[in-house]
Amino acid sequence: MSVSDSEIFTNKDNEFIAWYPNALTPEGSASVWKPRRAAYYVHIPFCTAICDYCGFSVEKAKGAPTERYLDSLRREIERYIKDGRLANHRFECGHFGGGTPSVLEASQLLSIKKLLHDSLNIAPDAEITAEVNPISFTLEKAQAYYDGGINRISFGLQSFNDKVLKVLGRPHRVSDSEEIIKIIRQVGWTNYSLDIIYGVPGQTMEELREDLKRAADTGSTHISCFRLQVVPYTALKLREAAGQLPEQSPMEVLNEMDHVVAEALAGYGYRQYGVFDFAKPGYETVHNAIAFAAPQADYIGFGNSAYSFINQHVFVNYAQKEAYEKAIAEGKDPIAFAKKANMQEMMSRYFVLGVKFLRVPRSGFISEFGVEPEKIFGSVLERLLNSGMLKRDGDDYVLTSKGRYYVNNVSKEFYVGENVGKRQYLQFVSNLSPKQMQEYHQLHAARR
Ligand code: SF4
Repeated sequence: MSVSDSEIFTNKDNEFIAWYPNALTPEGSASVWKPRRAAYYVHIPFCTAICDYCGFSVEKAKGAPTERYLDSLRREIERYIKDGRLANHRFECGHFGGGTPSVLEASQLLSIKKLLHDSLNIAPDAEITAEVNPISFTLEKAQAYYDGGINRISFGLQSFNDKVLKVLGRPHRVSDSEEIIKIIRQVGWTNYSLDIIYGVPGQTMEELREDLKRAADTGSTHISCFRLQVVPYTALKLREAAGQLPEQSPMEVLNEMDHVVAEALAGYGYRQYGVFDFAKPGYETVHNAIAFAAPQADYIGFGNSAYSFINQHVFVNYAQKEAYEKAIAEGKDPIAFAKKANMQEMMSRYFVLGVKFLRVPRSGFISEFGVEPEKIFGSVLERLLNSGMLKRDGDDYVLTSKGRYYVNNVSKEFYVGENVGKRQYLQFVSNLSPKQMQEYHQLHAARR
C-alpha cells in the first residue's frame, strides 16, 4: 500500500495552515487591541479603634507606621506602573477599602489616587469608592474627597441602634452616623452605600426592621447587609466566652432575619443582586460586576492582604503588614501565594464567584470558553437544579432563596481538581492584645 492510498481522505489537502482558529470575521478586528476591563482596590489597614467583632488585618492608625505603610503602598503601585504590567487594562472602577481609609488625611488618600490615575488607563466615568467610618470622616475631608474625584461613598453605619453598636464594640454612636449622612448629602454625593450588620446578640426582629427602614429613609442607593459572624480570636469571641454578651437569638430567628432583610429592602425599592448586596435600579456597584459577577474581569489589589486576578493568575499579598513592607523594602513583589488558573479552573471560577451574585449567564460562559456549561458541569448543575438551589431563568442560572442560604456550598460544588476541599488562604490576623490573647486561651481551656 502506498502512502497516498487512504480510506478516509479522497484528496490530499494542500492548504498552507498558518493560523487557527480560522473562523475570522471583520467584526472581530474591533477587539484586537481592546484593553481588558479591570478594577483596582487599595487596602488601608488602619482604623480609629478596633471593633470587637473585627477579624480583618487592621491596626489603630498612628503617625509613623501609617506613613511607612503608605510609602510601601506607593512603591508597590510604582512597581506595576514602571514595568507596564497594567498597560493593557482599562479601569472602570477603583475602591479604597480596609480598614478605614477615612482615617488617613484626605491629602494622603488622594495622593495615592492621583498616582494611580496619572498612570493607569482609567475610564472617565469610572466608579471610585472610598469606605468611610464615623469619627474619622469630617466635612472638610468629605469636601476634599468629593473635589478629588471620589464619586461614591461606602459608609460603615452598621446600625441605627446604640445598644447594637455597643454589643459590636463599635467606637461610634447613632448620632455620629446621623452627622455623617448629613455630611454626605451636604457635600453632594447622590451615590452612597450603607453597611448594616444584623443577627447581633440581643437584637430583636423589630430592631432589625427599624434599622432597615432608617437606612432606606436616608435615600442611599445601595445597602450591604451582613449577618454577624463571631470570628475566633476577636474581642467579641472573648466576651462571648466570658458570658458578657446578651443572649443570642435561636438559629430559626437568625434565618428568619435573612428573609426579613431581603423582603424589607425589596419593599423599599432595593433589588437584591448579590448575597449581601441590595441596590436601587442602576446602582449595582461596578466593583462587584468586575470582581465577582460572571463573566468576571481582571482585578488588581494593592496593599497588605489584598488579592488580585490578573492575566489568569490569582495572587494574594502578605496579610501581615510587616511582611508586606519588608518585601517591598527588599525590592520584591509582596506576593505571598499565586497560581495560574488552568482552563478548567477558569471555567470553574466563572460559577464559583458568579453564584455569589445570584445570576450566572450561560451566554457569557459560551462566548468565553466556546462550550456550553452543561458539557462541563452537567451533573453539578443537574444536582443543584433538582435540589432547588438553582433555577433557570431564560438563558441564565439563578440562585433560589434556598441557594442563597447555602451559597458557599453551591459555590464549592463547582470547585475542580486540587481546589476541592481546600480552604481559602487565611487572611485573618488577630487584633487581640497579648493580655486579651492570654485571657482568651484561659477561657477556652476552661470550657473544654
Ligand atoms: S470592623 Fe471595620 S471599622 Fe471596625 S476595626 Fe474592623 S475594619 Fe475597622
